[in-house]
Amino acid sequence: MQFTLIFTTLVHIGVGLATLVDFDSSAELGKQFLSQEFEYAHTHSKIIVGGGTTGLALARRLSADFPNKQVLVLEAGRSGADDPLVTVPQRSFSFIGTDIDWLYTTVPQVHASNQSINLSSGKVLGGGSAVNGLVWGRPAKEDWDDFERLGSSGWNWENLYGSARKSETLNVPAAPFAQEYGYSVEPASHGHSGPVDTSFPPFVPLQHLKFIDASLELGHPLNLDPYAGNNTGAWFTLSSQTPRNTRETSEFAYFDPVLHSENLLVCMHAFVTKLDISSAPNGQIKSTGVEVRFPDGSIVSAKVKSHGEVIMSAGAIRTPQLLELSGIGNKDILQALNIPVKLDLPGVGENFEDHTLTIMTYKLKPGFLSFDALSYNATLKQEQQELYDRKRLGWLTFAQAVLNFAPAQTVLSQEELEMAEALLQTKPDSISQDAFDLIKQKITDGIPQAEYLLFNAFSGGPVKENMTSYVSLAITHLHPLSRGSIHINTTSIDDHPKIDPNVLESEWDTWFLAKATAYGRRFFETESFKEIFDSEEVFPGLDTQTDEQWQQFIKDTVNLGYHTVGTASLLPRDKNGVVDPNLKVYGTANIRVADNSISPLLVSAHTQTTAYAIAERAADIIKST
Ligand SMILES: Cc1cc2nc3c(=O)[nH]c(=O)nc-3n(C[C@H](O)[C@H](O)[C@H](O)COP(=O)(O)OP(=O)(O)OC[C@H]3O[C@@H](n4cnc5c(N)ncnc54)[C@H](O)[C@@H]3O)c2cc1C
Repeated sequence: MQFTLIFTTLVHIGVGLATLVDFDSSAELGKQFLSQEFEYAHTHSKIIVGGGTTGLALARRLSADFPNKQVLVLEAGRSGADDPLVTVPQRSFSFIGTDIDWLYTTVPQVHASNQSINLSSGKVLGGGSAVNGLVWGRPAKEDWDDFERLGSSGWNWENLYGSARKSETLNVPAAPFAQEYGYSVEPASHGHSGPVDTSFPPFVPLQHLKFIDASLELGHPLNLDPYAGNNTGAWFTLSSQTPRNTRETSEFAYFDPVLHSENLLVCMHAFVTKLDISSAPNGQIKSTGVEVRFPDGSIVSAKVKSHGEVIMSAGAIRTPQLLELSGIGNKDILQALNIPVKLDLPGVGENFEDHTLTIMTYKLKPGFLSFDALSYNATLKQEQQELYDRKRLGWLTFAQAVLNFAPAQTVLSQEELEMAEALLQTKPDSISQDAFDLIKQKITDGIPQAEYLLFNAFSGGPVKENMTSYVSLAITHLHPLSRGSIHINTTSIDDHPKIDPNVLESEWDTWFLAKATAYGRRFFETESFKEIFDSEEVFPGLDTQTDEQWQQFIKDTVNLGYHTVGTASLLPRDKNGVVDPNLKVYGTANIRVADNSISPLLVSAHTQTTAYAIAERAADIIKST
C-alpha cells in the first residue's frame, strides 16, 4: 500500500509520530510530502481542511471506513496536549487572547450601540472543543427536525440523535458525588461506546446548587432526562470531560486513540489559504487540492487524488472565507475584489446566526466564594492546584453544572405574550420566511427560547471590588430572528473576513432578550438565592427598571454565544443553500462542507454536540455515496 511506504519513510527520516506532523518543526519534510517532489504525492483521497471538532471526528471515521484510502487533515493551529489552558476544565475561556485564539471580532453593530463584539475561536487541534465551556447539551427534538423541514431530507432528530449518541460515552457519576449534589442522568438517553467521554464534575459550587433550588422556587420544572428531545427546565448538564476530570476534545477523544493509524495524517501549523479549482464534467467545478502555507511563509499545494474530495471543516467563519477566496460565492462580492468567479453561489457567507446573550452580575455574601477567590487568595489557589494535580479533584474540575431552559410562556406574563404575538407579525428583512415560520411555531409550542446559566466569577460590570467573590448570570436568546453575514473584503487570508452578525436587527430580538434578562433578576429575589447573595445587584444595577432601560442595556452590552452557524447552509440551492443533503457544495463534483457552518438554524443548545453529530452523520453519508 502506498501510504505504508510513506508512513515508513516518514518514520525513517525522523518524524516521531508518523501520523501527526508539525509543519513548524518538520517543515522540509512536510513540503516534500505535500509537493510533487515526493515520490508518493497525490495519495490523498480525502483532504479535510481544519482539524477542529468536526474535522478530527470525521477524519477518524473516514480513515476507518476507507482503510485503503488516505485521509489528510490540515490544521492551522498546534496540539492542545499537555496545555492546562486546554486540559483543565476550570480554565475554559482562558484561551482568549492567547496563541490558540483566532482573535475574531465583529464589525460595529449598528443595532447594538455600534459595539464590536468579541468572537474568539479555537486555533488548535480540536478547534472549539479545545477551548469551549465544556457544556454537553442536546437540543429540543424540534430543533433538529427543523433542518429537514427546511428542505434537507434525512436531517432530522431521529438521524442526528443516533449520530450524536455515536460520539459519546456517558460516565455515570460516582455514588458519593451523585448523592452529595443530587446528580441525575438517564443512561438510556446517551451513547455508551463513542470516543467523547462525558461526565459530571466531582465538585459543584454551592451557588450552582442553589440555582436549581431558585429555579424550582420560581416554578421551573426539574428535568431529569434533558438529553432525549425535551430540554425544558432546570437540569444538571454533563461536561465534555473524562472520568479523570480533564477536558475531552476531538483531538484527545477521536484522534489520539488512532495516532498510529497508517492511512490518517494530521498536519499542524498547516494553514490552508485557498482551494485549487478546475472545471469538471456537466458544467460543474472540482477541487484538485488546496494551497497550504507553512510557518516560514512558503506555499505548497496538497493534491487530491482523482476521484478524491476536499472536505471543508474550517468552522463557520473560515469555511465561507476560504470558499470565497477560491472563487466560490456571490459573484458580485468576488468580482468587486477581482477574484475570478469559479462558481456563483450567493448563499456562501449568508444566514449567519449566533446566540445573543447578556450578563448580570451579583456579589456573594461574605464567607461564600466563587472562582474570583483564586485571584485574591493565594493559599486557596495553591491548595486547589495541588488537589487537582494530585487527585484530579476540587475546584479546577469544574466548568459548568446547571442549565435552565425556559419557554417564552415562562419568561413572559400573559400581557407580554400578547405583545409578543403582535411583534411576531412582522418578519425581519434578513430571515427567510421558512425559518421565521418555524421559529414562530417553536415559540407557540413552548420550545425553550431563553437559557439561564451561571458563570462562577465576575464576568460583566464596571467595578470589581478587591477580595470579593461574584457570580454572573448569562441570559441567552436561543432563537433570534436577525441574520447576518461573513464575507471577505480583501483577497488575503490574513485579513479576517467582515463578520457582521447583524445582532438585534429584529425588534423581537431586542424586546425578548430585554424581557428575558429582566426576568433573570427574579432568581436573585428567591429565598434560595437570598441566603448567599448580597441584595445589591452589581450589574446592570437596580436603576435599570423600565423597558427602555433594559433595552438600552441589551444594546450596550449584548454578547455572542460563540455558537456561530449557518454560513454554508444545508438548504435547497434556491433558498440560499450552499450544501445539499449529502453535504456537497452545489455545483461542485468533489467539495463538501462538514462543520457547524452547515446548520441552517440555531438549536436550543450549545453547539458542540451538533458539530459531533454532523461529523458522525457526514461519515455515514460519505461511506454510502
Ligand atoms: C469560547 C467558546 C465557548 C463555547 N462553549 C461551548 C460549550 O460550552 N458547549 C458547546 O456545546 N459548545 C460551545 N462552543 C461552541 C462549539 O465549541 C463550536 O460550535 C464547535 O466546536 C464548532 O465546531 P466546528 O467543527 O464547526 O469548528 P471548529 O471546532 O472551530 O474547527 C475549525 C478548525 O479549523 C481550523 N482552521 C480554520 N481555518 C483554517 C485554515 N485556513 N487552515 C487550516 N485550519 C483552519 C481551526 O483552527 C479549527 O481547529 C463554544 C465555542 C467557543 C469558541
